[in-house]
Amino acid sequence: MKLTFLGGAGGVTGSKTVLEVGKESYLIDYGLFQGGSAERERNWRDFPGASRISAVFLTHAHIDHSGLLPRLWKDGFRGKIYCSEETYKLCQILLSDSAKIHEEDAAYANKKQYSRHKPALPLYTQEDAKEVLELFVPVPFETPTRISEKVNITLYWAGHILGSSFIRVACKNEAGEEKVIVFSGDLGHKRNILLAPPAPLCEADFLVLESTYGGRLHPRIPAKEVLGLYLNTILRRSGVAVVPAFSVGRTQDVLYLVKLLMDEGTIPRVPVILDSPLSRKANAIFNECFQTGHIKEDVRKQGNIYPNTLREIETVIESRQVNSIKEPMILISASGMLDGGRVVHHVKNRVVNKSDGIILVGYQPEGTKGRLLLDGISTLRMHKEEFPVKASIFHVNGLSAHADYLDIIEWLQESDVHPKLVMINHGEEQGAKHLKTLLESQLDWEATIADFGEEFHLDHFG
Ligand SMILES: [Zn+2]
Repeated sequence: MKLTFLGGAGGVTGSKTVLEVGKESYLIDYGLFQGGSAERERNWRDFPGASRISAVFLTHAHIDHSGLLPRLWKDGFRGKIYCSEETYKLCQILLSDSAKIHEEDAAYANKKQYSRHKPALPLYTQEDAKEVLELFVPVPFETPTRISEKVNITLYWAGHILGSSFIRVACKNEAGEEKVIVFSGDLGHKRNILLAPPAPLCEADFLVLESTYGGRLHPRIPAKEVLGLYLNTILRRSGVAVVPAFSVGRTQDVLYLVKLLMDEGTIPRVPVILDSPLSRKANAIFNECFQTGHIKEDVRKQGNIYPNTLREIETVIESRQVNSIKEPMILISASGMLDGGRVVHHVKNRVVNKSDGIILVGYQPEGTKGRLLLDGISTLRMHKEEFPVKASIFHVNGLSAHADYLDIIEWLQESDVHPKLVMINHGEEQGAKHLKTLLESQLDWEATIADFGEEFHLDHFG
């Protein structure tokens, strides 16, 4: 039995791990590398072994875990992709959307002739995405699925986004003994606004553990209070509150918090406009899974998550019309880091008004427009134009869908599990090291940090 970390190691994107059991090869996740050009360049590398991979076990739909699957299909993969029903539904919209962006980027590069490649090609097309979606096999949670003579898998609820799972892979080694490897994927936590907390960790001989927040803590102040304070500040002076938010997860969190704040009378009942085609589709999937998905009971009791003044916008014409609205309102749009999408136009239009405000609701990495705003930049450059920053800039940072290190340690302590080895992945160096130290000191577990390309021969352990 061998594991090879091909991504999500020494960084937080491009999650992909190869599991070899005898002559069989499997992949756990096949995500897109995101970030700088050196990272993105990795997406273009062919995967010569693609046709020999028997199956992919997909933890969740986020693009940094699923976003290279159409490319895997292009490289010759024709096996099955096992995941939860909700993950399959979300991949249908996210992979098509990702393919569309790659096609548009390539078309733009050709028009402007700035690509080194002539002509510039998309990383993959909507047709590739459609083909790979045919290979998906949704499976229920907590029900073992036989993959081969030697391998079976079981999904457990991970509490991170709709459909997210940690995956138990039971493999028979050469001697016929069963060994269990658990892949955490991305883990959530108990403070998630809409989703139930992760299931307890199941028994595991080996654990592959994410460390995105291995070195950081989320604030414990309820995000609702902070969001209410900022919305009131903007709405009471008759301003427009622009909330850039990711389509899957964060948008639904914000809509629900706004509903609660309005219902309890904390903020005025102003119009709420959602302007993002992808967010609309994500809402529709959320609605489909409202009764059957891992939604918190108190949320389900509310019947739905939407403020009753919500208007979902579809066309570009409607989106432009929003620019002329001067009355107070809450305008939610994607993307969450202002690096693309319709929100860019709304920010351009509103950032110059003293009475308006921009409420950032997620982590803003270095180099993004969102980060520049948080750092207090006085002039924002967008679409080659300069805009003086006059609007209020606020940040609500308690909405992360990732467990922080206290959540992870608590989750592990609550289980009665003693893996022989923990392989830490999906984190920056500092966070991974910090988590390793805590695992060793608090749990007395053997832990190691998986490097990019590193192989682990698991038969050598116990
Ligand atoms: Zn994720």
